[in-house]
Amino acid sequence: MCGIVGYTGRGSAARAVFRGLKALEYRGYDSVGIALMHGGRFALHKRVGRVDCIQDVQEQNGEIGIGHTRWATHGGVTEENAHPHVYQRFAVVHNGIIENYRILKEECLLRGERFSSETDSEVIAHLFEWEYRGDLLSAAQRVCRRLRGSYAIAVLCLDFPSVILCAKKDSPLLVGASVEGQFAASDLSAVARKGVTCYRMENGEFSILDKESVSFFGADGTAIEKTPVSYSLQEQDTELGGYGHYMIKEIDEIPQAVERTIRAFKREIEAVQGLKDVFRIHIVGCGTAYHSGIAAKLFAQKRGCVSTEGYLASEYRYGDQTVDANTLVIAVSQSGETADTVAAAVMAKKRGAKLLAITNVAHSTLTSYADCVLHTKAGCEVAVAATKSYNAQLAVLYSFFDAFSACRERIWKGLPDLCKKTIEASRRVKEWANQMKSAKCAYFIGRRFDYAVAMEGSLKWKEITYLPGDGLAAGELKHGTLALVDESTPVVALITDQAVADKTFNAVHEVIARGAPVYVVTSIPSYANCEGAVDTVLIPQTKEEYMPMLSVIPLQLLAYYAAVALGNDPDKPRNLAKSVTVE
Ligand code: GLU
Repeated sequence: MCGIVGYTGRGSAARAVFRGLKALEYRGYDSVGIALMHGGRFALHKRVGRVDCIQDVQEQNGEIGIGHTRWATHGGVTEENAHPHVYQRFAVVHNGIIENYRILKEECLLRGERFSSETDSEVIAHLFEWEYRGDLLSAAQRVCRRLRGSYAIAVLCLDFPSVILCAKKDSPLLVGASVEGQFAASDLSAVARKGVTCYRMENGEFSILDKESVSFFGADGTAIEKTPVSYSLQEQDTELGGYGHYMIKEIDEIPQAVERTIRAFKREIEAVQGLKDVFRIHIVGCGTAYHSGIAAKLFAQKRGCVSTEGYLASEYRYGDQTVDANTLVIAVSQSGETADTVAAAVMAKKRGAKLLAITNVAHSTLTSYADCVLHTKAGCEVAVAATKSYNAQLAVLYSFFDAFSACRERIWKGLPDLCKKTIEASRRVKEWANQMKSAKCAYFIGRRFDYAVAMEGSLKWKEITYLPGDGLAAGELKHGTLALVDESTPVVALITDQAVADKTFNAVHEVIARGAPVYVVTSIPSYANCEGAVDTVLIPQTKEEYMPMLSVIPLQLLAYYAAVALGNDPDKPRNLAKSVTVE
């Protein structure tokens, strides 16, 4: 969700900051801005819309600059509210929310200061000007002591023409040091490149970047040494490689994502042994990660593990469930930065629980709190709507529960190949998409594992088609939603579990009887010619607990093709962000 960038060095700041903002685009944002410092003044370039709106800025002079992609929390989506915010000597970019900004702003207004935006962030620039007495670091210490909420900030001061000051609390911030120049950014992908040593900043820390080097300081202002993070440039690969969109590229990458994840888990298995001594397991996540947790909970139950539940992180963090030293909390987040998931994990740790983090990004806020980390090896996922990371999350969660349970059955090696076959078998949903794109609402139904996938299918549908959708337990239809079913509400039925297939099929007949166009995803050949259904996709069959890894694929493709048919950008759905760093 949004991001900040900073550059000071020998090269062109405009080009470096612009390139950083491009790398952060996938996180989601609504406006963009850059401040360059040159000749004792700030040059500001702000626009509502895409980073490309300010691409001309790359021709500008300046060896130091900061940039921002904004995902508005306080104040409308306008040019005035776009960052950087400048007040007198200071220019600031901010990711996060300043929760006490009203009180702080009130104070500034009483002093007669004028504000040029409605944001919570602008108050930071004002506070810097007020607290500044010639020393940037001590001003930053005083400012940060006053801020409540979350922030990653990069600050320019006209008195220091080659310096950027950075600080962070509860929003991600990385710093990269190189001979050519120093970088700061919310995300590794914006700083990592050949010859750059990267550092992850922790809460309460400050960094000062100048042309030649970076220095780090603790909350009390004493200099600290930091260990660089290790990263692979390959994992930062964000090339489209001939595809029209990232989402379809990432769906095609599912087989490799699953394969790499299963392989990597074998190396990390030792790490899980220390987590075994627990009475209960809570899997927490948001959106797609929550859905992978629900499927994994069913898997754990099937494997006879200790009591395992799946929770929405945003509910869990304020819930009354028992969380103690006998609890293992598995926090799942693609980015490792999801604010609700991080907060749920922090709450659980405070109550003594053990914390296992499952992320796709190696160095994140979530992993920094965890007792143990397992990585999904999905590779960089750019499209906001998660696809390959879901399959990889399932692969790592299933591998974990395999290792954790007494059952000696191991996750099945043939899965990547089945994913590949499923992708091929599912291309025909392009035709479904053309028919369904004018739907009033689309329903996705299934039982047990199929229900977990129905929820994820409906989420994909809503995220990128902007059409209503709902994922339902097939048995629940008759308890309410059936009242809404008619010719304009297509139903996608998942039938991959032999034990309950007949039961789901009853629901299929019930909706056909009410005129709904029905589309079937099944792995059971005898259901492939369902009378009355518009069409069926027959996907490969494996054990029912593994089916979510396959049956989700036609639903991901369906949402993708429908979004494209509707003229939506499937990679950057409106109002949504990839890395949801606010509550
Ligand atoms: N709260 C700030 C704003 O609304 C920053 C939002 C962000 O992180 O992009 O401007």
